[in-house]
Amino acid sequence: MGRKCSVCAHPDIQDINKHLIYGTTTYADIGRMYGLSTFALKRHKENHLSPIIDEAAEETRLQAKNDTIATLDAVDRVIREKFDVVLESSNPSYGQLLDYLKFRSGMLGETTGPTQVHVEWGPTIQEDGSIIKEPPGLTDNEVEEIERYARKH
Ligand SMILES: [Zn+2]
Repeated sequence: MGRKCSVCAHPDIQDINKHLIYGTTTYADIGRMYGLSTFALKRHKENHLSPIIDEAAEETRLQAKNDTIATLDAVDRVIREKFDVVLESSNPSYGQLLDYLKFRSGMLGETTGPTQVHVEWGPTIQEDGSIIKEPPGLTDNEVEEIERYARKH
């Protein structure tokens, strides 16, 4: 280690640090108040004070991040517990999905911009360029029935 820092060794170190952090008093004025040189104050701020401030800011940032993640995890657990049957189902009803989305929006506080679901149903183009007209998982009869229904409405 090099020479001892005259600011760190000062009995009023806490007050001096406050002045340096607030930045409303000039180095010259702080120096006059506490009998320290401008150079010593600048060196102290750069080498001893700033790293502490940066570390504290990083800790606060990490804590906030962890708190947010913990909250989202908790919300996710509650939602999954309540809608386990719906989420595990391969074909949940629209009513179930709507209940799930309403509950999820409520839990996440999405009241002004709630989750929107856009259902698109059209021909699918496969990788080889061929087109599948009917939605997968439906029989020809079911597709015809839906098409009849769509024509009527
Ligand atoms: Zn120092």
